[in-house]
Amino acid sequence: MNADTATRLKNLLGPKGFIEDAAEIAPHLCEWRGKYHGRTAVMLRPASTAETAAIMKICHADGTKVVPQGGNTGLVGGQLPFADEALIDFSRMHRIRAVDAGTASMIVDAGAPLAEAQQAADAAGLLLPVSLASEGSCTVGGIVSTNAGGVNVLRYGMVREQVLGLEVVLADGRILDLLRTLRKDNTGYDLKQLFIGAEGTLGLVTAVAFKLYPKPQARFTAFLAVPGVKAALAILSRVQAATGGMADAFELVPRYGMDLVTRHIPDVKDPFAAPSPWYVLCEVSGTPMLKDVFEDTLASALEAELASDAVIATSEAQRAALWRLRESMSEAEKLEGPSFKHDVAVPVGDQAEFIDAATKAVAKAEPGIKPIVFGHLGDGNLHFNFMVPQGRELWLERWDEIAAVVYAVVREFGGTISAEHGIGVMKRSELARSKTPEELELMRTVKDALDPQNILNPGKLLPDD
Ligand code: ZN
Repeated sequence: MNADTATRLKNLLGPKGFIEDAAEIAPHLCEWRGKYHGRTAVMLRPASTAETAAIMKICHADGTKVVPQGGNTGLVGGQLPFADEALIDFSRMHRIRAVDAGTASMIVDAGAPLAEAQQAADAAGLLLPVSLASEGSCTVGGIVSTNAGGVNVLRYGMVREQVLGLEVVLADGRILDLLRTLRKDNTGYDLKQLFIGAEGTLGLVTAVAFKLYPKPQARFTAFLAVPGVKAALAILSRVQAATGGMADAFELVPRYGMDLVTRHIPDVKDPFAAPSPWYVLCEVSGTPMLKDVFEDTLASALEAELASDAVIATSEAQRAALWRLRESMSEAEKLEGPSFKHDVAVPVGDQAEFIDAATKAVAKAEPGIKPIVFGHLGDGNLHFNFMVPQGRELWLERWDEIAAVVYAVVREFGGTISAEHGIGVMKRSELARSKTPEELELMRTVKDALDPQNILNPGKLLPDD
């Protein structure tokens, strides 16, 4: 950043908004898994949309590059500056602007933590159905810019499907006001969709209008021991048919995952006496009348030997304990040691065959590597990870090689290399192999039109030419 731009930004934002203190910036430059480390001397903290717009006017004038950051919980390095770009942190913009029970919608500043938005919806008797492990720290602007997924996609869809409107600051500092809460608006190009999942490369999301839903009156959570993925999917079909599609979450846990979680996470225990190759967590919500239907469906699944054992939570504490088994998976994996991680999706019905084929392919490339496959079985989205064998010095050096093996099988199955984590820097080069030339060309055309100087989150998402 040149001295003149720094002075103008300093004058605009004052000491609260223009940060040069390395100690204050440091936590924003390291992601929680420690895979990526960013570098910048300047962090900007706008207090409003108008200030964000003024920042971009100044930066646009001389081509100063910026990287927007939400809660710094991204897993693909999209939120970090790697080449001294100015980091923009939205934590001062955290207002819940409005909750409207009449239209079942809410408008929230980009810097608000997701959990605060959830609580505001809940206080109004409504549901914001986006839920992910990092919800206490991830921000509304971050989940929209990355089109986050999470555990309720099965019922409600990705974040994209919850967005009614957006407010966006463009690369040149213009404010694009798309902050409508209409349920129907069929007036040509739906511009807001461009910015959802764009990872800050097309504009800076400063506020979001979310669609809200009726808050379920009752919720029922079961943990099942299942012999295989096919049996698990058959249970899901039965639950959906019996409840009229009321399943919120259907999550897969492997035996190895159960071992890691019970070993590393305090106060977590295996709910079953006998080990099982796989487990699923299944949750339905709606009216209290679902209880009997749900219990009967699970009983018939046990009878049909689609499951070998099952527990249904009878209290909120029990429900939390069952969810902890699933939600602690990433942390337990991290505590066990380094691992290769892949966030992939294939058609829901093909997952058993995919797991088999991809596991074999990786075992051939790296004998002794241990798969840990968990995640959102109901969405076809698997966190297809592998623990690095102990004592092997292949960590990181072989990341791309192992990933290439997994992604080749993903492509065979017509799947995607990124189901919910995005592209960031981690998957940029892989994106070039996953999109058609026509798709890549159109993506570049859109980027050039909206950010001709390439000052918005440069080096992210789009592959090099
Ligand atoms: Zn996930």
